[in-house]
Amino acid sequence: MLVNLNDVLGYTKVKKFGVGMFNGLSADFYEGLIDAAEELKTPIIIGIADRFVDRLDFEMLAEVMIFLAKRSSVPVCVHLDHAKSLKNIIRAIKAGFTSVMFDGSNLPFEENIKKTKEVVEIAHSVGVSVEGELGVVGRGEWDFKNPEFYTKPEEAEVFAKQTGVDALAVSIGTVHGVYKGEPKLDFERLAEIRKRVDCYLVLHGGSGLSDDDFKKCIEYGINKVNIFTDLTLAINEKLPEFIKTTDNLTPAIFEKIRMIVKEEAIKKLKVFGSYDII
Ligand SMILES: [Zn+2]
Repeated sequence: MLVNLNDVLGYTKVKKFGVGMFNGLSADFYEGLIDAAEELKTPIIIGIADRFVDRLDFEMLAEVMIFLAKRSSVPVCVHLDHAKSLKNIIRAIKAGFTSVMFDGSNLPFEENIKKTKEVVEIAHSVGVSVEGELGVVGRGEWDFKNPEFYTKPEEAEVFAKQTGVDALAVSIGTVHGVYKGEPKLDFERLAEIRKRVDCYLVLHGGSGLSDDDFKKCIEYGINKVNIFTDLTLAINEKLPEFIKTTDNLTPAIFEKIRMIVKEEAIKKLKVFGSYDII
């Protein structure tokens, strides 16, 4: 069934676990993700990153995502990840998405609050949830020593109160994409943010973290974990092997992508404690 972000994250109030948000690129991804959630009897969030909205046929994919969510036996939230403009947020809402992220993390603090609040007002008026971001979750080479990149707990408190976001993405030392060097997470900071903020907390840049890191993040208050890179890495690794051993490549190749995504998602969801929830 199609639900919004608050609905899926609400389950984490009953049992402590992390809801998985997986970005995809095609129908095969979304089928694999929902297969995984149904097999584990758990809610899931399927998403698309804003940077792919113009590269792929967004409205076509949105129809697919929403169709699959409605048909599913588990609660599925359909989410737009990292939107930087109101334009794509409106497009997503019009297409029937139930959740949008406005990423104003590169804006000055006050400006981020103002823009995020605008998005919250529009989205909430039609029952769509909103995720905001404070602090910078970088990409690849991230400056771990720069305190400006980390979410400041006192700012998080003000941001959450003034914007009314449903969920907040925090920067505690993770990066998007593939890590260069060992990730080092600031759990004390996460605990402090958790103490001050009522809304749900989101971990971005989850791909590449150890199982223990994920578990500790959830223990310290993360409710939603974003994954994309680990899905693509699994496909990059497993698909070429499969192609070498298969004569009748079509349609098997599409089924294989669906299967690889399903297996990788199951692995992650189990680590997040996301099973036997429904
Ligand atoms: Zn992200």
